[in-house]
Amino acid sequence: MPDIPVWNKCDNLCVMCANEPAFVRAPSGRYLLKSQIKRFESYLSGFKAAYAKNADNCAALNLTGGEPALNPDFLKLLTYFRKRTPGRELTLLSNGRCFSAAVFAAAALKAGKAPFAVVVALHGSTAARHDSISRVPGSFSATLAGLRNICIHKSPGQTLEIRLVLHRRNVKDFENILLLLLREFSGFKGWRAVALHYELEGRALKNLKALALRLKTSAGAVNSCAALIRRFKEFRLYHFPLCLLKKELRPLAWITLPTEDRFYARKCGGCVLRASCVGLMARYSIRFGSGELRPLKTI
Ligand code: SF4
Repeated sequence: MPDIPVWNKCDNLCVMCANEPAFVRAPSGRYLLKSQIKRFESYLSGFKAAYAKNADNCAALNLTGGEPALNPDFLKLLTYFRKRTPGRELTLLSNGRCFSAAVFAAAALKAGKAPFAVVVALHGSTAARHDSISRVPGSFSATLAGLRNICIHKSPGQTLEIRLVLHRRNVKDFENILLLLLREFSGFKGWRAVALHYELEGRALKNLKALALRLKTSAGAVNSCAALIRRFKEFRLYHFPLCLLKKELRPLAWITLPTEDRFYARKCGGCVLRASCVGLMARYSIRFGSGELRPLKTI
């Protein structure tokens, strides 16, 4: 199932947003209910080119943006996609702010049914840090309130994934973000945290100077928090080459990038972890090379 852009506008202006400026600036008419249904029905009848990303992925349907929840037809669309993909994993990527209204959170989770995952990024452990990255004052408290409401209103078969997207502007805050999550959400079930290295796309590429971070630095921050990470019920790592992670953290690493977005250096050929490793993000390898990688001879 493909990535479906549900809405192209967003009420955050995150410095590391992977969306292209042209996507954000375009008119939004094509994302309204009628057009969305027409496009998805054509996809279901075999027209794979209806969507640009992950059209061949059969595992899940990813609802993306912009901020999907800002679409005036959002609840109707969620109900429609759920009805047309029964039993399939439905994933919603959101900045979480609309979920700060309990009525909206309850309605969205009811419409998403199961299996349904809501994915929300948290950018810092304080309002000052988070809001300087989202570039919207008040977004930290709204996102935290949204995360709480998702935890309160979700049902069995529904998951909350809290993403910590690491770049130069927040990597030193990583430990404090983990402590905040443990403090605020340990009492809830059915959620996980994910740490990932940011992707070099869209606005993130434009802001490269402010964001640039080597994988060995973000992996170093993750490695130094291994004891804290063990306290989470579920924790995942995306976009980290296994050779940069402590041995005990490697089982938490997932390959979430499509083959065309991954790069393996020639030296990876002699590495015993090659088959289970994400390698480098292709764009990262172009910008920073593969000098950080250390092929392993034994596990
Ligand atoms: S050397 Fe290559 S294959 Fe081996 S762990 Fe590192 S990135 Fe992965």
